[in-house]
Amino acid sequence: MWRQIRIGFLLFVLAITAWSTWHDRLSTTDWDEPLHIGIFPINPEGAGSSDAYIENLAGEDFAAIASFFNEEASRHGVAITNAVRVDLFPEVTELPPASPPGGSMLSNLWWSLKMRLYARRNARPPNRAPPQVRIFVQYHDPSFTRSVPHSVGLQKGLVGVVHAFAAADMTGANNVVIAHEVLHTLGATDKYDLATLAPLYPSGYAEPEREPRFPQEFAEIMAGRYAIDADTFEMPESLDEVLVGDQTALEIRWTDR
Ligand SMILES: [Zn+2]
Repeated sequence: MWRQIRIGFLLFVLAITAWSTWHDRLSTTDWDEPLHIGIFPINPEGAGSSDAYIENLAGEDFAAIASFFNEEASRHGVAITNAVRVDLFPEVTELPPASPPGGSMLSNLWWSLKMRLYARRNARPPNRAPPQVRIFVQYHDPSFTRSVPHSVGLQKGLVGVVHAFAAADMTGANNVVIAHEVLHTLGATDKYDLATLAPLYPSGYAEPEREPRFPQEFAEIMAGRYAIDADTFEMPESLDEVLVGDQTALEIRWTDR
């Protein structure tokens, strides 16, 4: 009897999450009103420099993300003027749940459930409309963190965790990572080779038809790097050097073929 209740409860939770994922997918990619994206800064190591950086953050530090989305949406034929709206929210003190190291299906499922609950607890500041997509940005002090963990964006739950650097000259590069993870929450897939990090051709090239093909002038957002030649790839310093490619536009339903 207890076993049946437990299984019934589990099926119920699964059904609810499946329904809400389907509902989120439709409501975030219909592009008939601006998609609301919220940025929630976090100081992961408690560093003083990260504190100062977060304190100085202003909405305009993320304005490049909104212009990037709006310009690219209109280039791909989306009719509304503002495809997205990006807002800065107050700092969050609770750290996101650590991602499972091994990554079995069950531990991933459990982790994504914990992420949803985490976002629910921390992305509802009083007196403000909660955003549809919640991006938690952990600002690491670059003087003692050289490389940061992988950022993630989950379509299930519309939540992203970004690892960024608390340095003024990294703001542009941080925005590239934020835009990439936002697109994951909308269903876009990575377009680079996981082993070599090379952009995939043609989907990971901003201008696959460009003649001559090299050097590419822009990076495709889900490839993260642009090809200087067949074996040299560089990361963009800001969203000024990034485009949304045709395959990504299709995945997030900016286009339908
Ligand atoms: Zn990715």
